[in-house]
Amino acid sequence: MPNTSRRTFLTAAVAIPTTAAVVGLTSGTAHAAEFKWSRKLRNGTSGSDVKQLQIRIAGYPGYNAVLAIDGKFGAKTEAALKRFQGAYGLAKDGVAGPNTYSKIYALQDSDNTPIHFKYSELNKCNSTWGGGNVSAATAKENARRLMWKLEALRHALGDKPITISSGFRSKSCNSAVGGHSSSRHLYGDAADLTGTHSFCTMAKRARYHGFANILGPGYPGHSDHVHVASGGTTWSASRCF
Ligand SMILES: [Zn+2]
Repeated sequence: MPNTSRRTFLTAAVAIPTTAAVVGLTSGTAHAAEFKWSRKLRNGTSGSDVKQLQIRIAGYPGYNAVLAIDGKFGAKTEAALKRFQGAYGLAKDGVAGPNTYSKIYALQDSDNTPIHFKYSELNKCNSTWGGGNVSAATAKENARRLMWKLEALRHALGDKPITISSGFRSKSCNSAVGGHSSSRHLYGDAADLTGTHSFCTMAKRARYHGFANILGPGYPGHSDHVHVASGGTTWSASRCF
């Protein structure tokens, strides 16, 4: 009875988010369900599902560019999607369909962060994400978006580990480590990177993955890590170029 089975499956699938929401409320922990796409997306489409796609391919904007997360699928989103598809060996058709989605699902955890980075790595300051220059919810979302760019950088550098020595900082955490008062760490969209790659390797490659603010060797105070952030404008790693 294929029709009956399918109907049962669909009913069960629809029921899951409701159950998850109730569990989240009763336990006092808000769990966003893993995002799933239900239609193909291509140049000209728009909506919140486009926005969720843009967040996951924002690490592929091309050299010295930042992809707008605006829910509008235009030429820049299409180009980023083609680069994402190429990076993972998919057909570069610029259309988000089953092959693209299955690759994204393989790359994402149930909390919609990429598999190689966690919220806890992006916040060693507190557990609330509060006390920075933006609301706690904004800081946490900024960190999630940053993680997808870090996932792209990590993949481009051969899937070797990248370690985050500092991510989000409240104002007090930032003062304690001597951070600049306008540091992007206060917004949750910055990370200081160490790991197996040389600092210059990371600083140079980061130019291709959507980071507007990159500070590395040659910039004062950045000889032992590479700082990358989604926001800001400064790019300086004079010893690398
Ligand atoms: Zn930093």
